[in-house]
Formats: sequence, structure tokens, C-alpha cells
Amino acid sequence: MTNKLKYFIGNWKMFGDFKDFKIVNKINQFSYSPRYRSKKKKIILCVPNVLLDNFNKKIGYNHISLGAQNCHHYHGSGPFTGSVNASMLKSSGAEYIILGHSENRSEGESYSIIKKKIISSLDKKFIVIFCIGESLADKRAKKTYSVLREQINGSLDKKFDVNKIIIAYEPVWSIGTNKIPKTHELIKTVKFIKKEYKKIFKTKIDPKVLYGGSVNNKNIGLFSQIDELDGFLIGSASQSSKKFIDIVKNYYK
Ligand code: PEP
Repeated sequence: MTNKLKYFIGNWKMFGDFKDFKIVNKINQFSYSPRYRSKKKKIILCVPNVLLDNFNKKIGYNHISLGAQNCHHYHGSGPFTGSVNASMLKSSGAEYIILGHSENRSEGESYSIIKKKIISSLDKKFIVIFCIGESLADKRAKKTYSVLREQINGSLDKKFDVNKIIIAYEPVWSIGTNKIPKTHELIKTVKFIKKEYKKIFKTKIDPKVLYGGSVNNKNIGLFSQIDELDGFLIGSASQSSKKFIDIVKNYYK
């Protein structure tokens, strides 16, 4: 195992309540516990918008960061009922933001809308967790690479700062299904994403690429062997402090 920085990012989705601050608190304490504080890791919890400000104020000295899960594409204020912009999320304490999640793409979020969201979030000094991934039909039709290339091309821009974008590779067929890619396929795909990104944007800097989809405390052992991965986006297992902490512990076993 290398000494590279690894990300463990929780995506609570539309789950959680104010009382779940105890989960945040436990993970925060764990992150700084004697055995794990020296690990080169970054823990981020992306919680529902309404919890951000409350959690941010309560957390005190934090060894983890908070993130949001989406924003409206318009950078300013406007007549967009029920929406929040990047600026509002920033002032609520979020430092990271998930954009392009397949659950939002499936609601009709287009490449250009995602791009606008990225621009607006970068403008507000967010670190963007940009999700890409092929569907089961794409995989079966052997279109994985062309879909990933299209998603990268469609929403990223070479003007973006590679250091402010983290790519989360989340095959749609692995989200919430307990199915994970074969190790050799995952390594190939992560290498492809890094290479493609560098080619498109004519950069020598490797983008950070995470894996997301049914990560749990058992399969994390497999993933920990994959040096090409810069970390993980964790959905349902991040809604329990025990499950999330066990993932991090087992990663470093
Ligand atoms: C997600 O939705 O980002 C995700 C990774 O979900 P899960 O871990 O539950 O598959």
C-alpha cells in the first residue's frame, strides 16, 4: 500500500436527520484517533443541505469535511423554486460538492447543465466530486469507454483546475446492488479515465479518481490492493458510523 492521500467520501443521499450528528461526531473522532490520525486520508461526509449548517456549527474542531450533493446550475439568486445555489451551500459549511451523480442524470440532468453546475461550484471555491459511470446496457453493449469519454468531454473543460476536480467512477449497475466490477476491469477503467482526462485536457497531472458502488467493509480489502484508486465514494454504508469506520479500518489493515 502506498502513502498516497486516499479519500473516503460518504454520500448520505436523501437520508438523515439532525439527530444523526452523532454519526458525524463518531467519524470525526475516529479520524483523529491515535491509530488512524497519521493515515494520509481525507474523510468527507456529503449530507442533505438542510443539515449542513447545523452540523458545521456543532462539529467544532473537525478532522473531516462536509460536502453537498448537488446545486442549481445558476450562479446567482433567481426564481428557481426549491433550489439552492453553490453560494448558499458554501455559506452553510460545505467545502465539497457531488455533481453529475447518476441518480440526478437519470432525472434529466444534461452534460451542459452539469458543466454549468461545475463552473458555478468552482467559482465558489468548492472541490467538485464529478461522478461518471456507464449503465448496465452500456456495459453489455461494450460502450463503457465511449460513455465515460463522452461524460468527461461533455461536462469538463480544460480551463478547469484539475486539482479542484475529483472524478468518481460509479458504474450505475453497481450502485446499491452489491455488485462490484472485477478487479482487472476496474484497474483498466481507472487507467483509461486518467489517460483520457490527460489527453483531452493536455495535462501531465493525473486526476484523482475514486471508485463508488456497493463499497462495504468486506470488499474494501479488494479495493485496497488497487493503487490506481485515490479513494472511494460510499453511499448506503456511510449512513452508519460503524459501517463507514469499518471500511476505513479495513482499508488500512
Ligand atoms: C452512491 O450512490 O454514490 C453510492 C456509491 O451508493 P452505494 O455505495 O450505496 O452503492
